[in-house]
Amino acid sequence: MEYWQELLRKSVESKEEIISQFGIKPEVAETLNDFFQTRVNPYYLSLIRHKGDPIWLQCVPDEIELADLDAPDDPLNEDAMSPVPSITHRYPDRVLFLVTSQCSMYCRFCTRKRKVGDSSKISMKYIQQGLDYIAAHPEVRDVILSGGDPLTLTDFMLEKILKGLREIPHVQIIRLGTKIPCVLPQRVTPQLCDMIKKYHPVYVNTHFNHPWECTPEAKQACEMLADAGCPVGNQMVLMKGVNDNAEVVMELMQKLLAMRVRPYYMYQADITKGANHFRTPVKVGLDIMDKLRGWTSGLAIPYYVIDAPGGGGKIPMLPNYVVSHDEKTWVLRNYKYDIYTYPDVVEETPTKAPARKRPIRAPRKKKVFSERTDPGAR
Ligand SMILES: *Cc1c(COP(=O)(O)O)cnc(C)c1O
Ligand code: SF4
Repeated sequence: MEYWQELLRKSVESKEEIISQFGIKPEVAETLNDFFQTRVNPYYLSLIRHKGDPIWLQCVPDEIELADLDAPDDPLNEDAMSPVPSITHRYPDRVLFLVTSQCSMYCRFCTRKRKVGDSSKISMKYIQQGLDYIAAHPEVRDVILSGGDPLTLTDFMLEKILKGLREIPHVQIIRLGTKIPCVLPQRVTPQLCDMIKKYHPVYVNTHFNHPWECTPEAKQACEMLADAGCPVGNQMVLMKGVNDNAEVVMELMQKLLAMRVRPYYMYQADITKGANHFRTPVKVGLDIMDKLRGWTSGLAIPYYVIDAPGGGGKIPMLPNYVVSHDEKTWVLRNYKYDIYTYPDVVEETPTKAPARKRPIRAPRKKKVFSERTDPGAR
């Protein structure tokens, strides 16, 4: 048995363990575990510094999860976009491919609580169906392996899936959505990296939420993936009590860059049964973005997105940098709230009149705002 499998086997999972390890009330322990199972491996457990800290909140079950049982359990309407059980096809050219229900930890804020951990809903038997669906849909050029966590599969199983995908000519890129580098970095072994390497381009999106998760072990795992040629990105979830302030987010983003991980998304927490206590006002997210842009490396800045309830997809949210504008001028503010005007290009409507000499451009004003505020410009 490999070391990571041993760690996984030693996880806190049972009703008795959550009562003794976390002081969960015996009368709710079973209901809690029935609602959404517990799994905290000794590595992630060792990151807890005190009860109720940002690490604790992410992994230790809490009675509060049972308080909103009439909230939606499929807020993003993913099930309606599943042509086969293992595929979520929401966008034109890419799909989520759910290849396992297992995770190396069960995050208390998980948006897929209804499926994750339940092997009747996501399982190996649906994998062939998923491959067949992708093969039959030439518009799918990007496949995101998700679940559950695809890196909980053995190298052998994962390779079968990667190989299957690479036999489909229209699949250009493969992404691995995995929390492993954060919660069980020991899983990233040289053998795994050597295997993944054969199926490039493979992108990895991992999931760090707090600077305390950026340990030497996690750094090593991310660097090994980067050395294997995988661009590694990070998807953070904004959560009350965990990372809902700009200092914590900036520290996390800077630490990730130092581990060769590029921040990608900062998600507004979804409206999910059993996880609503993590939600924050949108204003908090916008304020964090405002305190990142300009104040630290542009590379450290993720897109802040809200996954629209009902399945509209991710919608980017940006603080407002436009003070006012008309046809000729944009009045903008920078990260320090200084005001600049940008003279826009005014295009003449084409006429049939003979070409005239172009007017000389207006001289540049002293301060001309030139940095684009569009996050797509990064
Ligand atoms: C997030 C997501 C994707 C990937 O979106 P990108 O913006 O391309 O990273 C694809 N499909 C579904 C269903 C998603 O939720
Ligand atoms: S690793 Fe991902 S899928 Fe698994 S419980 Fe955590 S958030 Fe949910």
